[in-house]
Amino acid sequence: MATLQEPEFVLRNGELISWKEATIHVDSPAAKRSVSVFEGIKGYWQRDNEQFGIVELKKHYERLRRSAKLLYIPCPWTFEDFQEDVFRLIGALLTREKDMWIRPTLFAVEGQWGLNTQSEMIMTAFHQDKAVPRPIKIGVSTWQRSIDAALPCRIKTASNYQVSRLARIEGRSRGYEEMILLNNWGRVAEATGACVLMVRDGQIVTPPPYEGALESITVNIVEQIARDLGIDFVRRPVERTELLIAEELAVCGTLAEVVPVSAIDDMPVDPAGPVLEQVRKRFFDLVRGKAVSQHLEIADLPLTTTTA
Ligand code: PMP
Repeated sequence: MATLQEPEFVLRNGELISWKEATIHVDSPAAKRSVSVFEGIKGYWQRDNEQFGIVELKKHYERLRRSAKLLYIPCPWTFEDFQEDVFRLIGALLTREKDMWIRPTLFAVEGQWGLNTQSEMIMTAFHQDKAVPRPIKIGVSTWQRSIDAALPCRIKTASNYQVSRLARIEGRSRGYEEMILLNNWGRVAEATGACVLMVRDGQIVTPPPYEGALESITVNIVEQIARDLGIDFVRRPVERTELLIAEELAVCGTLAEVVPVSAIDDMPVDPAGPVLEQVRKRFFDLVRGKAVSQHLEIADLPLTTTTA
């Protein structure tokens, strides 16, 4: 688990500091009212070419800016600043043969109810083992994703993870590793920290953001992969019962990657179905640098910044 590590360095406003120094004040809007937005970015050790590749960095930066804009949190960092910071932190922590998960968070550290908000960019990064995700059993939660007028799901903010946490607790008590959150209309929104991919009649289907899914960067990658492989891909509302009769199911996200589902609410699904298996294989080939696509941007860490 990423969060059980204590990496030596954290990056705060462009400066490397120690793990213990990385604190925020109890009276900050971030601590008191969860006023923060964040990203989860993945970097892969690419064994074949001895490179470390960071997937869709700009897309993550752009989503962070959109989240910040929607919560009125200032984000004075340009993409160039952001990229430099990500490279710097990874360079300080990288270990050969390990992947990394990088979490830039923009915390509101000053301000009252949206007045005079000031922010700090704090980046943490964690090592990840290079294991191919194994199939998981999932359930449908009794907890729901919020509606856009209450807590917009397209904002990647800490508050949206309260319900994910509740669903995970519920799932654990029922023996499931991941949970599906429905939306206010009883249709499928997403998983607790990933999106849903369903196969019906050979076509990959995923619920769109207006159904309560995050604007996922991995879903866009999967869509492009499907296109390249000649597989139909469609974004449309998905009903709960469709999941139960799906030919194949998976959840996908930056941290999750593409994870096959072997059962939903105790109903078995083939975790090695042919459609998502092809997608998964191509996904790992791309992120590990074994294949290239003009549609997927992977930034190579400049080797001069590494201590690997
Ligand atoms: N939904 C939620 C709630 C998430 O936390 C994530 C992970 N960021 C996703 C979906 C997948 O988004 P992405 O593919 O951009 O990582």
